[in-house]
Amino acid sequence: MKIVLASRNAHKAAELEALLGDHDVITLPDDVVLPPEDADTFAGNALGKARAAADATGLPAVGDDSGIIAAELDGAPGVRSARFAGEHATDQENLELLIERVSIGSPLAYHCALAFAEPGGEEFVVEARCTGTMAAAARGSGGFGYDPIFVADDDDAGRTMAELSVEEKQAISHRGRAAALLRERLEQ
Ligand code: IMP
Repeated sequence: MKIVLASRNAHKAAELEALLGDHDVITLPDDVVLPPEDADTFAGNALGKARAAADATGLPAVGDDSGIIAAELDGAPGVRSARFAGEHATDQENLELLIERVSIGSPLAYHCALAFAEPGGEEFVVEARCTGTMAAAARGSGGFGYDPIFVADDDDAGRTMAELSVEEKQAISHRGRAAALLRERLEQ
């Protein structure tokens, strides 16, 4: 199926393209305007993007929203993960703020919602999580965002997400799991 990806985050787009590889994934045309991420749920933001891309292109579209949830911060930064340290904060600034606010070993979770929308037709959302803990120090150069401090429960070696290969991250990540659920739904 030809699917347009409603994302302008190059890292996430690359990960999703690889994960949905059996479909013909097209990146979002430059002139398509995506709505602001102002919903208070990951699913709401993902659906808004998928609908906008499907309506603008006339193609089935996948929108995503993801973020990190810290138990010690009552679930923050959550849907505000990209803007944790301010409206135009960089990944590095957001990461530094999380390190400042969250204790070593404290529970974290990555959450991903993927929404599928057909122009004027079917739509659904799948969601998945990857649980982990705060690393003692930032380590690794792979991945992006909060990966250098996220030690996934599913990695027996206790590495951070930034120390995993792309394939290792995809096998256990929130996005990898949500993409697997999406692929299953699309095959039904
Ligand atoms: P959004 O989905 O574009 O709103 O951004 C999600 C935010 O969560 C970004 O700041 C990312 O840095 C962070 N995030 C989402 N997925 C990941 C991931 O796989 N690794 C690290 N950070 C992530």
